[in-house]
Amino acid sequence: MALKNTGNEIISSLKSLLAEQPKSVVLVTHENPDGDAIGSAIGLGEVLKEFGHKVNIIVPNAYPDFLKWFSTEIEIVVYERKRPRATTLLGKADVLICVDFNEPKRAARMKKKLLEFSKPMVLIDHHPNPSDFCDYMISEPQYSSTAELVFDVVTLMGVNHCLNHDAAEALFAGIMTDTGSFSHNISSPNVFLVVAKLIECGIDTEKIHDAVYHTFSEHRMKLLGHSLDKMKVFPEYRSAVIWLSLEELKDYNFQPGDIEGFVNYPLSINNIVFCALFMERKDHVKVSFRSKGSFPANEFARDHFSGGGHRNAAGGEIKIPLDDAVNKFTQLLKEYKHLLKETTIKKNEKYDNK
Ligand code: 5GP
Ligand code: MN
Repeated sequence: MALKNTGNEIISSLKSLLAEQPKSVVLVTHENPDGDAIGSAIGLGEVLKEFGHKVNIIVPNAYPDFLKWFSTEIEIVVYERKRPRATTLLGKADVLICVDFNEPKRAARMKKKLLEFSKPMVLIDHHPNPSDFCDYMISEPQYSSTAELVFDVVTLMGVNHCLNHDAAEALFAGIMTDTGSFSHNISSPNVFLVVAKLIECGIDTEKIHDAVYHTFSEHRMKLLGHSLDKMKVFPEYRSAVIWLSLEELKDYNFQPGDIEGFVNYPLSINNIVFCALFMERKDHVKVSFRSKGSFPANEFARDHFSGGGHRNAAGGEIKIPLDDAVNKFTQLLKEYKHLLKETTIKKNEKYDNK
């Protein structure tokens, strides 16, 4: 097995870098960490811990309750809440590993800390167009998830004997969440080969699925109902949009992570190929985009909402009032009418990932 973009020499030097233990390794994820970010950090962290290193995970801000079931002994420090602790850990770290993001900006308030870090930095990620800010870059956009890539990197480094039950559960959760329970982002059989190996570690996949998807609070379920009720559908543009104000979030007792996954629902409507979810924040509006097939949500996000991402899952932000942001989106649909009409969702695109 070999990786597409990462030469064997990078894997060998990474292996040498981590050969001597114990080293202090800090793993960092992107802001608003999702299942793949947390799963990849815990998965790789557990392997490195088992190998003999001292491992800590730092996340820029809090992550949702449905990602808090992971079994791990690794301390996960929320930078926003425990800056002094995070700063101490970064100060002592011998190696810093960035997982599931590829530009310092995605680490938000930790961006400066990453740029200041003077010891070796490693990147393991599956988003397109990485910025070159790490010494060891493992950037492989053909992978479904960083978790799937972590499994292969661990295998290539010859340390998969250190892949314990906790690591296997975490990596499975990362792959499961980034593929929408194996419904998208699957461009090669490798996803299932990796999952097969994880199942051989004795994980209970149903338990993990339940822990991630079936732990809604009543408020969260009702907020979903409310969001879908106010959704606007534009059949002529094969698009739909949902938007939520801070006031609405307050009405439904919003907790971090409560709107995770909401953006995907409009794509369940027949013939809808593009949708957006606008969320009002204190000083800006955050947008998530999802698309099907050939429609490039990432280009749309990049060109109009200072964002980016994958072809079918992207995001961005804008500093104008919520209603204006939604209006901007609906106006833009007119310009994209042709492209939206032409969007193909043929299955023969399955090996043409992102
Ligand atoms: P989500 O909608 O789940 O927050 O993000 C989906 C994908 O869009 C992420 O995996 C990431 O690649 C990308 N993304 C989200 N927000 C931003 C952003 O503000 N800037 C960029 N460049 N990419 C984003
Ligand atoms: Mn990911």
